[in-house]
Amino acid sequence: MNNPIKLSTWAKNIAPSPTLAVDAKAKELKAAGEDVCGFGAGEPDFDTPEFIKEACTKALAEGKTKYAPAPGIPELRASIAEKYQRDNGVDGVEATQVVVSPGGKYSCYLAILAVISPGDEVIVPAPYWVSYPEMVKLAGGVSKIIFAGKDAGFKISPEQLRESITPKTRMVVLNSPSNPTGAVYTPSEMEALTQVAVEAGIYIMSDEIYEYLLYDGVEHVSPASFSKEAAQLVITVSGFSKTFSMTGWRLGTLMASLPIAKAVASIQSQTSSNATTFAQYGALAAMQNWDKSLSAIHGMLEVFNLRRLRLLEGLQSIDGIECPRAQGAFYLFPNVESFGLSANDFAAKILQDEKVALVPGEGFGAPGYVRLSYAISDSMIEKGIERIARFCNGL
Ligand SMILES: *Cc1c(COP(=O)(O)O)cnc(C)c1O
Repeated sequence: MNNPIKLSTWAKNIAPSPTLAVDAKAKELKAAGEDVCGFGAGEPDFDTPEFIKEACTKALAEGKTKYAPAPGIPELRASIAEKYQRDNGVDGVEATQVVVSPGGKYSCYLAILAVISPGDEVIVPAPYWVSYPEMVKLAGGVSKIIFAGKDAGFKISPEQLRESITPKTRMVVLNSPSNPTGAVYTPSEMEALTQVAVEAGIYIMSDEIYEYLLYDGVEHVSPASFSKEAAQLVITVSGFSKTFSMTGWRLGTLMASLPIAKAVASIQSQTSSNATTFAQYGALAAMQNWDKSLSAIHGMLEVFNLRRLRLLEGLQSIDGIECPRAQGAFYLFPNVESFGLSANDFAAKILQDEKVALVPGEGFGAPGYVRLSYAISDSMIEKGIERIARFCNGL
């Protein structure tokens, strides 16, 4: 038959998620009976806090099983608006400026779709979360990658941002704390970057999904809090996945100026409709019982912090590995260039030889680096360090 299946331009251009690919390979090996150390996963290993699950179960029992308003149940949108005023210092946020979506990933995509037209440029600092450039492509936009490596603490400078802005630039993506590097911009660094964007009149998509996962006493700041002008231009994206260990619930949030939030709600109403109704009631319990939420978050953070320090120490003690001290999220992003292998080859070989799964940096726009998640058990971390050391010493 000379009529083969023809895929769209969109389908042909999109790269499959490399993080999910590593995960799939590791699971395959596990299923084959191999003892795999999986540093690949991008999700907390804790269960969702009980009180959140109970609220969801209750909603389900009460028949909250129907369509809800497309941008989210009103109580949840209101409580998120309130949180941004109370915790993040963003003035005058109304519930109508908040949209709840099926996952933070979809919130990011909606943010891009709402303001990016074909040919528009989006500045994406690397190392970046794997999905941003793919989403920009799906919107017909063009990613302009600017790089900040370990010597810059994985943080772009205001000058770098200013120099990369052209008449076609519409948006810059900021993700602090960062996946994959764990880097956190200080409030003054963030303010300087925001200033550059505001002066140029470009949007900031601020992905703050790791905002509560901070260590060493560092602070998170939302660019939308700096000024009225900033609040107009910043699209703040977040979600429940990482903070509350709710990855499978698929609940993301977006907060933006009213015209953008309305556009986002319209796109969502035509593409996915509301995020799962009863799941939103679980999220509502998290927002309305903030003390309980904070104590759940702090419990998780204490565990993450010990693992972070242990993995950091383990990696830093290996000859040839350079590992910056990440202060947010649950990732470390060491440089492995000195071994003379590409990160892809390093990851493939260590999985083969030592059954250690980690994610090569190429997919994050950072060849030479690998990402390790420490959202795994202490014993797995210990075993992993031993294996990585043996592997590196043998190279
Ligand atoms: C995990 C993650 C998200 C969104 O995750 P969801 O599970 O879709 O809510 C968004 N941005 C970054 C940087 C992430 O790591």
